[in-house]
Amino acid sequence: MKNNKIINKLILEEKASLISGKNFWETKEIDRLDIPSLFLADGPNGLRKQKKSADHLGLNESIKATCFPTSATQANSWNLDLIYKAADYLGKEAITQGVNVVLGPGTNIKRNPLGGRNFEYYSEDPYLSGKLAAAFIKGVQKNNVATSLKHFAANNQEFRRMSIDSVVDERALREIYLTPFEIAVKEGKTKTVMAAYNLVNGTYANENIHLIKDILREEWKFDGVIISDWGGLNNRVDSLLATAELEMPYSGGKTDQEVVEAVKNGTLNEKELDKAVDRLITLALDTKNTTKKANGTFDILKHHEIAKELAEESIVLLKNQDNILPLNRNKKIAIIGDFAKTPRFQGAGSSGVNPTKIDSFLESFKNESFDIVGYNKGFHRYGKKSSRLIRKSKILAKKSDIVLLFIGLDEYSETEGLDRSTIMLPKNQIKLIEELSKVNSNIVAVISSGSVIDTNFDKYVKGLIHGYLPGQAGSIAISNVLVGKVNPSGKLAETYPYSYEDVPTAKFFPGLKNTAEYKESIFVGYRYFNSKNHPVKYPFGYGLSYTDFIYSDINVSKEGVGFKVKNIGKLDGKEISQLYIGNISSKILRPSLELKGFSKIFIKAQQTKNVFIPFDEYTFRYFNTKTNKYEIEEADYQVYIGSSSDDIKLSGSIFIKGTTDVLPYNKFELPNYNNININGVDDLEFEKLLGRKLPNSDFTFIKKKRILVDYNTTVQQLRFAKGWSGRLFSWSIRLSYRFLRIIGKRKTANIIQMALYHNPMRNISRLTGGKITWGQLDGLILMFNGKFFKGLKVYMKNRKKKIK
Ligand code: BGC
Repeated sequence: MKNNKIINKLILEEKASLISGKNFWETKEIDRLDIPSLFLADGPNGLRKQKKSADHLGLNESIKATCFPTSATQANSWNLDLIYKAADYLGKEAITQGVNVVLGPGTNIKRNPLGGRNFEYYSEDPYLSGKLAAAFIKGVQKNNVATSLKHFAANNQEFRRMSIDSVVDERALREIYLTPFEIAVKEGKTKTVMAAYNLVNGTYANENIHLIKDILREEWKFDGVIISDWGGLNNRVDSLLATAELEMPYSGGKTDQEVVEAVKNGTLNEKELDKAVDRLITLALDTKNTTKKANGTFDILKHHEIAKELAEESIVLLKNQDNILPLNRNKKIAIIGDFAKTPRFQGAGSSGVNPTKIDSFLESFKNESFDIVGYNKGFHRYGKKSSRLIRKSKILAKKSDIVLLFIGLDEYSETEGLDRSTIMLPKNQIKLIEELSKVNSNIVAVISSGSVIDTNFDKYVKGLIHGYLPGQAGSIAISNVLVGKVNPSGKLAETYPYSYEDVPTAKFFPGLKNTAEYKESIFVGYRYFNSKNHPVKYPFGYGLSYTDFIYSDINVSKEGVGFKVKNIGKLDGKEISQLYIGNISSKILRPSLELKGFSKIFIKAQQTKNVFIPFDEYTFRYFNTKTNKYEIEEADYQVYIGSSSDDIKLSGSIFIKGTTDVLPYNKFELPNYNNININGVDDLEFEKLLGRKLPNSDFTFIKKKRILVDYNTTVQQLRFAKGWSGRLFSWSIRLSYRFLRIIGKRKTANIIQMALYHNPMRNISRLTGGKITWGQLDGLILMFNGKFFKGLKVYMKNRKKKIK
């Protein structure tokens, strides 16, 4: 242990209390031994340090900070150096704010386009996600500020996010859901990891020995601190047995007592507790210089500039018919759409940043010398129909040569805590596009949204740009791309299907009761679409440029793949080349291709560059559930170089020696998987892949549909409580949610959903820092279980005890 001397001077109670929060954001200090406190703050695209009222949902104000593009946006840049650079600036800001741990990056896989936090995550691909997360971590941690890689693991839906059990087969878990974390841990060397709220294969992530102890600590050699997600702690002692040490936030001191008792009664070995404390003290000492420089000031404009640079590289050009872009300066331009005036630049929830300044497109574009015929709002942002706005927009569109149309999703539709219900744009916007196309055929649409939307409206437009959620400097970045000051170079990090129903998980996302069954296994995103040969609207890895590139001279060697890329256009530009690997003759289930490397390079007009993408430890491996480790199958592998997953430019092959002859299964016994017929996979076939029986997904007793309320029962589940008071409570929450939505108070409605609906009972005490004591909670539980008066008595008795 690094801090033996200090630990020897701590009494048991001090050790126990060091590993839980002092308040919402800080850990405890012990002045007598110079152990400093840590300040932890969100998040992945800028800091959210709160001074006064604290919350983990992005509700109360935070100190102003640079809002960088959200992770989903950054991912489109595929530019590791630039993400590193922006993260370095984020780390510098953390120093000025006295933040020791930045709660990000989030590197969960986008399993389904409706995932409520997709805007906070990078990609549907594990390799890309891992590399981007590692770059972010290195950038922040360069400043001696720690990152917290989250949410470990299989945290892919918001519905029942604190209690859902992700049921996922070991191979998919390893190859799809853990690989991004593995790369980020090994390459990025994050100092902390945040355990997810959910359960993974029957055990809370935070207590999951397989995930945390066996894989994260032992296999990947992670020796940093593991933090519970806010209010995510279930059983204190079990989390410590799994080596997850830090409980956040402060929960009233009860869990500290539990640790002390566990040591005294031998459930927890004090040596293990010492190791946990040692890791925490190491983190506190490693990052302590940070807080000394907290003067609150930084170069706002410089940081804004970096945010702009990253936004520029992340914008994706999806369509450019007749080369309508870059805009011709001799044309008359109409600007239509609310998002041009009030940009949508980040998502809602704990990643929300209070920006230092915000550019709007209207303002930014005024600085360009274009003949602007006018601006019209075009539609009501929150979906209300308006034929008046459409009429006015049409008049404007008629007067112009080109219409710049700003469409997208509003602030309340992409929120932590809530999965989306549709990938469609609001109807009033679609109607506007249709109507405008009747009077002007030169429409360039700019999308603002942090996740996949249905883009079939693109038949009405000639140009289509996806800005995603580009951060506070996004509008100027979009303007620069439209006018050609920046040649777009972003490529999609997720697939855009023709319709939501095409998505392999469409039928079973999200899990609504106890479990989320990951029946699609490894066939996530393009891995599914390409293997099934199912056409998509915009494929993974796709994005246009104002110039063109040609590929030639592939050379596959043991070390990797070399090839040439020539810029054959008139403009300088950047190209993202992608390395995919396939194994047609495989005896195991395989996606037809998988991303295993990429390169983004700048090439001057008419210039040719040599590119080399090396193979690495991830290139040929697969997880073998029989040998219980990664193996390599002996085969001739196909090596593809593509400009997207659907546009393979060069191919070659290479023979790779295998590591074992043991096969995990006979793939013909999994016929629907083998034929990529995910909808045909029934429970039996999934069980075969899982290697065990499926857990019961229903949380109600069959008889009368009632449940027994306990600490982990969520407010949502209380609708099935035995006691009328529980049902009434749940009902009133649901009713107020619906009522608020009807009267248009979507923000408050969302807050109810996020803060209350999916919370387990235990958080009534824990998340209030013990303001409602555990004794009172026991009273409530009795009441909700049908013993109203007995419960009320217990509640009142404990209330009086507290007051005393
Ligand atoms: C989120 C985390 C976040 C934490 C603190 C939780 O609700 O899941 O991502 O870091 O709150 O705000």
